[in-house]
Amino acid sequence: LTKIKEGMAEIFIPKAERIYDAPVFYNPIMALNRDLSVLVLKALGSKKVLDALSATGVRGIRYALETEAEEAWLNDINPSAFELIIKNLENNFGEKPILEREMAIITRERKIIATNKDANLLMTEKFRYFDFIDLDPFGSPMEFLDSALRSVKRKGTIAITATDTAPLCGAHSKACVRRYNSIPLRGELCHESGLRILIGTVARYAAKYDLGIKVLVAYYKDHYFRAFLQLKDGAKEGDKSLMNLGYVYFDTKNGKFEIEKRFLPSKLNAFGPLWLGPLKDQKFIEKMILKSEECELAQKKKVLNFLNTLLKELDEPFFYDTHALARRNSLEVRKLSEIGAILQEKGYKVSRTHFSPTAIKTDAPFEEALMALKALQ
Ligand code: SAM
Repeated sequence: LTKIKEGMAEIFIPKAERIYDAPVFYNPIMALNRDLSVLVLKALGSKKVLDALSATGVRGIRYALETEAEEAWLNDINPSAFELIIKNLENNFGEKPILEREMAIITRERKIIATNKDANLLMTEKFRYFDFIDLDPFGSPMEFLDSALRSVKRKGTIAITATDTAPLCGAHSKACVRRYNSIPLRGELCHESGLRILIGTVARYAAKYDLGIKVLVAYYKDHYFRAFLQLKDGAKEGDKSLMNLGYVYFDTKNGKFEIEKRFLPSKLNAFGPLWLGPLKDQKFIEKMILKSEECELAQKKKVLNFLNTLLKELDEPFFYDTHALARRNSLEVRKLSEIGAILQEKGYKVSRTHFSPTAIKTDAPFEEALMALKALQ
């Protein structure tokens, strides 16, 4: 084992050549994901939180140390992970957890509980119990989604990571249809559509429990998707969420996309269903930024840069990638700022997007974006 520090936590992790060979998983790249999650939790002020797939325990331990959570649950099905979680708890809280009815418990001013169960089983036992559930699995979170929606309170929040980028981005289309009941899109829009498919699937699953969703913040980064979704209680809220579902049509010849908010597609060759509602709550992101001032994050500068990018991003579905737009229309690539300036002069809104460094989001129609690029040739 070696010891690392992340945020306020000190964590023993197994030594391994490659992270996936380790007996218990720890990925340092995900420190940013955990930093953002700490800020979300602080902004929400959730009291009972579950790190359902905990591995080393780093996430749950950080929640216990860095947020106002009063009860932090850490769970992993892997016995080696459970053993390591206990060691890490002891090291961070200065006392050995007490073993009691399959649980390892520390009771101080806040309660920390470690369990060694199948996450689905644990969440089924804890019906409508948690204010915040974090699903951070290998690959797809879908096998845990139903249990999570039953285990979280009706106004709680679920945080979902998906690392199965190949299905969600259309490289393994059949897997996307199986897991997410949605037809994925390939090409330059695949990351945004992957994120929207993930959220759209949660919206459909939630609706059957008479729950709606509100996206607090959602993003794509480092080959994973992450969404923080606050539940809204009631059948009407479920209906409202479903109104934000729809389809995207994509013309590979020129890069034109069209969206359609509708329960069933009206034309052939539709991709989806997917979420076409907001990907963020502006006020919430501002609150996260404020909260960062009182935090010792692992990567504060990176986190703030990223949050500011999200804050400035136009919340319109999809974008124009200048490289793809040029290639698909046999034109030369031009600077984002130049294309943006032409569109802005015509009164359209323009912003960069975290989905791609070479793309702009705009409320301008395709023809205008293409005309702007043509004018610069
Ligand atoms: N959340 C951790 C972090 O931030 O470092 C990483 C979690 S790792 C990607 C996924 C973990 O899920 C593994 O430790 C694995 O043992 C655990 N796991 C897989 N299937 C599970 C199940 N059905 N129930 C509980 N844990 C499970």
